[in-house]
Amino acid sequence: MEKNIFVTQPYLPPLEEFIPYLERIWSNKVLTNCGPFHQQLEQALCEHLGVRHICLFTNGTIALVTALQALRVTGEVITTPYSFVATSHSLLWNGIKPVFVDVHRDTLNLDPAMIEAAITPQTTAIMPVHCYGHPCDVEAIQRIADTYNLKVIYDAAHAFGVQCDCGSILNHGDLSVLSFHATKVFNTFEGGAIVCPDAKTKVRIDQLKNFGHVGEVTVVAPGINGKMSEFNAALGLLQLKYIDRALALRKKIDAAYRERLLGVAGIRCLGDSGEKVANYAYFPILVGADYPITRDELYQRLKDIGIHPRRYFYPLISDFPMYRGLPSAHRDHLPVATAAAHDVLCLPIYPDLEIAVVDTISRFIAGQ
Ligand SMILES: *Cc1c(COP(=O)(O)O)cnc(C)c1O
Repeated sequence: MEKNIFVTQPYLPPLEEFIPYLERIWSNKVLTNCGPFHQQLEQALCEHLGVRHICLFTNGTIALVTALQALRVTGEVITTPYSFVATSHSLLWNGIKPVFVDVHRDTLNLDPAMIEAAITPQTTAIMPVHCYGHPCDVEAIQRIADTYNLKVIYDAAHAFGVQCDCGSILNHGDLSVLSFHATKVFNTFEGGAIVCPDAKTKVRIDQLKNFGHVGEVTVVAPGINGKMSEFNAALGLLQLKYIDRALALRKKIDAAYRERLLGVAGIRCLGDSGEKVANYAYFPILVGADYPITRDELYQRLKDIGIHPRRYFYPLISDFPMYRGLPSAHRDHLPVATAAAHDVLCLPIYPDLEIAVVDTISRFIAGQ
């Protein structure tokens, strides 16, 4: 390839369209503290996503940490080892013990059949991830949560705009957390949000993200500073105008890969796992034992020709030093996640990726 192709490339609206937003900020001199763009973006996202309430944050990780605080989660939380490390880190930042449970082979999401065996008297919540934007088995997870009186906080960092038969996937569980990081489907450079079902919880989260302040002289909780700035909120408003176009382009790339990789021995494309509206955030393939070379060899050979896929998620979170001592982090206990981390490769996908490049990558994979 003449130029390097990375796994993703941030999507940006036309620069000149951002200037009027900046002029507004420069003239009204409101830079942060939940100003007009912050409020507008919350409203616009509620409508776009089909959710009741949303609280904007500086990033997805602070939103995860705050979501756990808002629901006063303590003790042990059941979660997946097959995710970005921020999922479990948010638990450690709250002094909570992560309990890893294996994922399901078809979706690489938390396997509901494995959850009950991991529940102890200390368990207070479940934190699943809609990995790659593919929905978790939300009904099975909710049944378990109801039976054992557990909270459910979804790490929905990959799941912007994803819908199941019952509407937005973000309406499931007690809270859902989004990331608007540069690498995500919808970005505000850095940013994140908590989706919550009721106004009372939104008030509490809004207090927590602003130091616990209520009015000028009252502080009701040991809050954090998690407020999204006016600059990032303005960007979000402009990005939202282009999101449908971005998703349509991603959909074409996803379809092109699937068509071209169909029938390549040893390659399994993940996905098509029950979403009514998908967001094509990632394009993960699994390199099986019947493929002529290993995943790592394929990864290296693609890099040698200027294609840079990523091994999301390798290593597993449970293999990092601050987690691997936990009893639930043992590989024997996580066979499906361990195998997936060994086999997975996320291929480049982003709105401006040319189909000709998808062709080249697919042919290269088929030709090993
Ligand atoms: C990106 C990501 C996060 C963290 O979001 P930031 O906005 O980068 O803090 C959390 N969980 C998952 C699964 C992610 O992919």
